[in-house]
Amino acid sequence: MSTIAHLINGELVQQAGRSTPVFNPSLGKPVREVPLADQDIIRAAIASAKAAFPAWRKTPPAKRAQVMFRFKQLLEANRDKIAQLISEEHGKTLEDAVGELQRGIENVEYACGVPELLKGEYNRNVGPNIDSWSDFQPLGVVAGITPFNFPAMIPMWMFGVAIAVGNTFVLKPSERDPSVPVRLAELMLEAGAPNGVLNVVHGDKTAVDAILTHPLVHAVSFVGSSDIAHYVYQTGAANHKRVQAMGGAKNHGIVLPDADMDQVIKDLSGAAYGSAGERCMALPVVVPVGKKTADELRERMVAEIPTMRVGVSTDAGAHYGPVVTAQHRDRIAGWIEKGVQEGAELVVDGRDFSLQGHEKGYFIGPSLFDHVKPGMSSYQEEIFGPVLQIVRAETFEEALALPSNHQYGNGVAIFTQNGRAARDFAARVNVGMVGINVPIPVPVAYHTFGGWKRSAFGDINQHGMEGVRFWTKTKTVTARWPDSELEHADSSFVIPTMR
Ligand code: NAD
Repeated sequence: MSTIAHLINGELVQQAGRSTPVFNPSLGKPVREVPLADQDIIRAAIASAKAAFPAWRKTPPAKRAQVMFRFKQLLEANRDKIAQLISEEHGKTLEDAVGELQRGIENVEYACGVPELLKGEYNRNVGPNIDSWSDFQPLGVVAGITPFNFPAMIPMWMFGVAIAVGNTFVLKPSERDPSVPVRLAELMLEAGAPNGVLNVVHGDKTAVDAILTHPLVHAVSFVGSSDIAHYVYQTGAANHKRVQAMGGAKNHGIVLPDADMDQVIKDLSGAAYGSAGERCMALPVVVPVGKKTADELRERMVAEIPTMRVGVSTDAGAHYGPVVTAQHRDRIAGWIEKGVQEGAELVVDGRDFSLQGHEKGYFIGPSLFDHVKPGMSSYQEEIFGPVLQIVRAETFEEALALPSNHQYGNGVAIFTQNGRAARDFAARVNVGMVGINVPIPVPVAYHTFGGWKRSAFGDINQHGMEGVRFWTKTKTVTARWPDSELEHADSSFVIPTMR
């Protein structure tokens, strides 16, 4: 079995010591081994990024954009192979993996506009012969720590813009599916990124802690579960770093009585069960308003679920594949059991699903709960699996209150044909990303991405101009050039004003 390498200073680096297996979840067996970095490896990666920074920050933005553009072309040329690798280690279907990669490429395309994105602000004559301007400068060595569920897209959310604006980067991807991030870094080298501009180190808490406490790392972007996001936010901030830490989610889909139910059933099926529910923007909770809407929705979901095909990730006809590990499958099954114990009605039970010929794969069938109540822990916590929970509401206000009062506030969707209700909902709901008849409202690369409440810690989001702001610091210069050498300003002992 091969061992995946770190990529430091342009070289693949093997490491003895601690390691962990990487599985193919469709087969339910280990396919590779990944090392778990010790402090020395992390220090070497940070040193390599530090050495690369002075020349990279001096490289004109238009030249850095050319590297990103070649990287985009290489991603497109290698699309199928990268998608296969995503699919092999993650378990999502090939088609879904291609979609993920496309979303990552869109972030790289955004980064290609870096000369425009870095244009600063300028004011002439803010005072007599005084001009003032602000520009956006890179931070230096920065880091990204990413989850298993998007091994290509989320690293590219981060390093696409971070590197384009002139930083050098240390990426610590998930140890569950670490091959793709290394491949991305190899393609960055091929695209012309100098050695040390993008380093990839594998590992667990030891590696994360070494990054969070290293004085040369200026900013950390994290995406993962909420408790760890909170820990990363606190530890990074205590070590004087700028931190954005995106956490878990429990997104609700509100269905008003006038919604187009044919479309709702299609949208819910994909958003609740697609990628085996392992998306932070999945819709694991549906809130039909009124008994008639709830009864119809339940009946139609019960009819829809048997049409869903669960298969190996290479099965072109499969709607979704296995979950990432055996432990995660058991955790999901545990939450289903918990829901039953708490008194919710388990209408469809996916726990006994087994795929013929792939009995060892980490598959779990679609499950559906009805009469889930807000007080239940299976409602309050993230399950991150193919489980849809129906929480019935009597009124619009009751439906609006559910996602608004939930501990997570990543995404929410409303299904209706009533523009006034949709507009009111979007304005008042206490959640960061809202879909109106859009089940998975993941913002495009040039709009900001980020949840509220326990779905994100820190003040600046991913994507778009917020991403540019996160990865840069603003410098403001005030300059005076008198008309003649004889023109001297008098001493002033009061704060300067223009009066
Ligand atoms: P995770 O929190 O287990 O792991 C995320 C990263 O943290 C990995 O790189 C991992 O190695 C590292 N890590 C794990 N344990 C750690 C510890 N004790 N100390 C320090 N670092 C540690 O998350 P996951 O299971 O890989 O991903 C799924 C989670 O990510 C879900 O909760 C999902 O909602 C969330 N997610 C959120 C978003 C978002 O934008 N809000 C996007 C994708 C995924």
